[in-house]
Amino acid sequence: MAWFKRTRKPIAADAEKPSRVPEGLWIKCPGCAQILYNKDLVQNLSVCPKCAHHFRLGAADRLRSLFDDAWTEYDRGLTSTDPLRFTDTKPYHERLKAGFAATGLRDAVIVASGRLGGIEAIVAAMEFAFIGGSMGVVVGEKLTRGIERALAARQPIVIVSCSGGARMMEGALSLMQMAKVSAALARLGRAGIPYISVLADPTTGGVTASYAMLGDLNIAEPLALIGFAGARVIEQTIRQKLPPGFQRAEFLIEHGMLDLIVDRREMKNTIVQALRFMGSRSAGAADPVQAAGASAGQAGSVPGPQSDLSR
Ligand SMILES: [Zn+2]
Repeated sequence: MAWFKRTRKPIAADAEKPSRVPEGLWIKCPGCAQILYNKDLVQNLSVCPKCAHHFRLGAADRLRSLFDDAWTEYDRGLTSTDPLRFTDTKPYHERLKAGFAATGLRDAVIVASGRLGGIEAIVAAMEFAFIGGSMGVVVGEKLTRGIERALAARQPIVIVSCSGGARMMEGALSLMQMAKVSAALARLGRAGIPYISVLADPTTGGVTASYAMLGDLNIAEPLALIGFAGARVIEQTIRQKLPPGFQRAEFLIEHGMLDLIVDRREMKNTIVQALRFMGSRSAGAADPVQAAGASAGQAGSVPGPQSDLSR
């Protein structure tokens, strides 16, 4: 028998009235513990205005942060066939479905073409929310097609990596994508067309071991985790304590593994400046501001020939 008995009915929650504070309206910054208004954060490209902590950015938001205006997406419908019928704690095809429900994407990358500061370019952005941004057959194929498009149109390509590495549910097939994408990039390099790699937090495993490190310019976001094997695995293997800041962008740039660390709010300007230096020109208009508002009649124009700077 209970010692205490509730004599009155508990106050019923009013089910009709929605909460005055919708979920996700405020967010606590892991960098400085400030409570931030989500809308402000989105407007600031998901960078904390107080301490410049870089929150993870989705693939579509990433494209929005780089392109001048609308973009054309390629190969949207490509999806994995689950070639190994793989099951771990749950079947791979269910993970694909969950990824689709969470992101609206069929796989972990969006490849699109549009204009950056007036320069016609291909941009690929990886989506971490889709199975950890892992690189499977579809990611490899979409990136390769994107690179081949860049080659055919003689347009530069920017790949923004945000990935846990190869997709183990596709076994060796996912590992083969490293060679496939790298080979396509080699052809692009031989043609003298620029490739800029942007490494966002995290960029690890097979992605770091292939295309993320193959840029003519490798640019990381501040404090991004970049590495091949996990720090714990390395410590256990070499039986040594790793130095502080190991595998962070700032550590890597000190050891010559990166070219630049750029704040996300400056990323677009930096990329445009680099592309201009490598010989890319704005399409149709001399002024990139004009190019952004250019009429549809210029849609078919191609950028000028690449100068020797890009070789
Ligand atoms: Zn902060």
